[in-house]
Amino acid sequence: MDTPPKLRLFVDAALAPGAALPLTAEQAHYLLSVMRAAAGTPVAVFNGRDGEWRARLEPAGRKGGRLILESPSRPQAPEPDLWLLFAPIKRTRIDFIAEKATELGVSALQRVFTRHTVMSRVNDERLRAIAIEAAEQCERLAVPTIMAPLTLPALMAKWPENRQLFVADERRTAPVLRHTAAACALLVGPEGGFTDAELVSIDTHPQVKRVSLGAHILRAETAAIAGLALLLATDPPQE
Ligand code: SAH
Repeated sequence: MDTPPKLRLFVDAALAPGAALPLTAEQAHYLLSVMRAAAGTPVAVFNGRDGEWRARLEPAGRKGGRLILESPSRPQAPEPDLWLLFAPIKRTRIDFIAEKATELGVSALQRVFTRHTVMSRVNDERLRAIAIEAAEQCERLAVPTIMAPLTLPALMAKWPENRQLFVADERRTAPVLRHTAAACALLVGPEGGFTDAELVSIDTHPQVKRVSLGAHILRAETAAIAGLALLLATDPPQE
């Protein structure tokens, strides 16, 4: 058996034997300048749909080239159906949330603007780039979807009927989070927390369950990661 390639890249293109995938400028820079990979170096590639494939690097000059696909190495497998919804916080902390949530396995990331949200300038492209890099690094076969940001009322107005929404509530009265639904989402509030009015409006939805993550008041990013770990380390109940 060949050892798995040390280099791993997310690509958009369909994966099939013999396909030649042109490198983006960033991929060429990473492979050729940062990693100093030579012609013929094996690279693992995935696109979130066709599993993982083994490819060989075919450089063209110092700033470009192609990946030539050889054979599949891992089949695409179903992943947990779990969204993380979070109120944008400071930029470095959002980056941290996007990276860790991707490693843990969320299927989608969404920013939600609440009353106490401190506006931040993190855009979709930046979040997607962080998620791609985290997926490449952690050997995940898919990259979470970056959903368009919404206000809390807009989010709740179109909440899907078939998705459980766990709302992280630090007020010590909610039961501890437990995985109770295959399709679910975790909502974490901003540093200032949710207002009483926000919690009342969220509570009117039948799919909502307020949940605790322990006795202490956690930072938003700690709450996100702790909640995801609880959800992703346990199986949802069988249908
Ligand atoms: N209400 C506080 C702290 C907000 S903490 C304040 O006004 O400063 C930020 C977010 O993290 C909260 O909105 C909540 O979603 C989540 N969180 C923090 N600690 C938590 C806990 N022990 N259980 C559940 N959620 C928690």
